[in-house]
Amino acid sequence: RSKRRGRGQITVYSREIAQEMKRATQLEQALRNAIIADEVDVHFQPIVNLKDDSVVGFEALARWCDADLGYVSPAVFVPLAEERGFIDTLSEALLRKAAEAALAWPKELFLSFNLSSAQLMDPSTSANVLSIIGRAGLDPRRLELEITETAVMTDEDVAQKIVTELRAAGVRISLDDFGTGQSSLGRLRDFSFDKVKVDRAFVSRISHDRSSEHIVKAIVAMCDGLDLEVVAEGIEDVSEALKLKALGCGMGQGYFYGKPVDAVATMRYLATKYATREPGSAAGG
Ligand code: C2E
Ligand code: MG
Ligand code: MG
Ligand code: MG
Repeated sequence: RSKRRGRGQITVYSREIAQEMKRATQLEQALRNAIIADEVDVHFQPIVNLKDDSVVGFEALARWCDADLGYVSPAVFVPLAEERGFIDTLSEALLRKAAEAALAWPKELFLSFNLSSAQLMDPSTSANVLSIIGRAGLDPRRLELEITETAVMTDEDVAQKIVTELRAAGVRISLDDFGTGQSSLGRLRDFSFDKVKVDRAFVSRISHDRSSEHIVKAIVAMCDGLDLEVVAEGIEDVSEALKLKALGCGMGQGYFYGKPVDAVATMRYLATKYATREPGSAAGG
């Protein structure tokens, strides 16, 4: 009896797995088509200086809304493109669009772009990135690349080489989602980062629990000592913003300051911020 039930379960599971694989393949095909049709878009979320709330740059975030599948999160389709081996094609389209949009911003603003873990294992990534922004006409000193610890860990030598080549060209490197995953403090010392992005998990609890506050305080102190800039991610309300300012955190990002919006809305946002100045000739630009 149990044997029969067991077999039944295997049938159910294999059907589920088959359906899941079919779904992933449909998603893959739709995504490949969307890239070709230029339907994968990029949105921008402001990163601000917490001292005066001035905008210092924008993070580019991939957006895809399929006619049949609806909105698909980048947390789903970026890993899919990695698994199916076309992250380079996707990322190239995204970086090209992001770099072109950034050209219209005041020159002192940086563009922050997420690199996926597969890209950090591919030694041609540094040359590819520099050639894409070169063709777009974006100064490498205006580009920041966000990478995660997990991505660095996979093949540390290749990742280090990519990062070294990019930094030599003036690109800055941020460590994304810091505090989640396999955080190693030694990596902060040995790997060349310019900036640390404190994960939203700490920020969202900072008003409610003292331990998150202490952790952020310690991260800020450590980064000060290591000469790394700190960005707090996912700031959603004024109390979080005030707490982070009080802790001496230099930069912030989150819905409180602005949700990710498309390139056109980003220009409108900048127009309100730079109301009295000419676009492209803002202070320091
Ligand atoms: P991430 O790089 O850590 O990006 C931050 C995520 O937090 C974004 O989600 C952003 O929309 C969201 N967020 C920002 N502020 C707030 C807030 O105040 N509250 C809340 N609840 N969320 C906030 P999103 O856009 O869904 O992206 C998810 C992840 O997908 C990103 O995490 C990044 O790892 C990846 N991703 C997005 N675009 C790209 C891309 O172009 N290339 C690569 N390789 N990965 C990307
Ligand atoms: Mg990021
Ligand atoms: Mg992040
Ligand atoms: Mg994240």
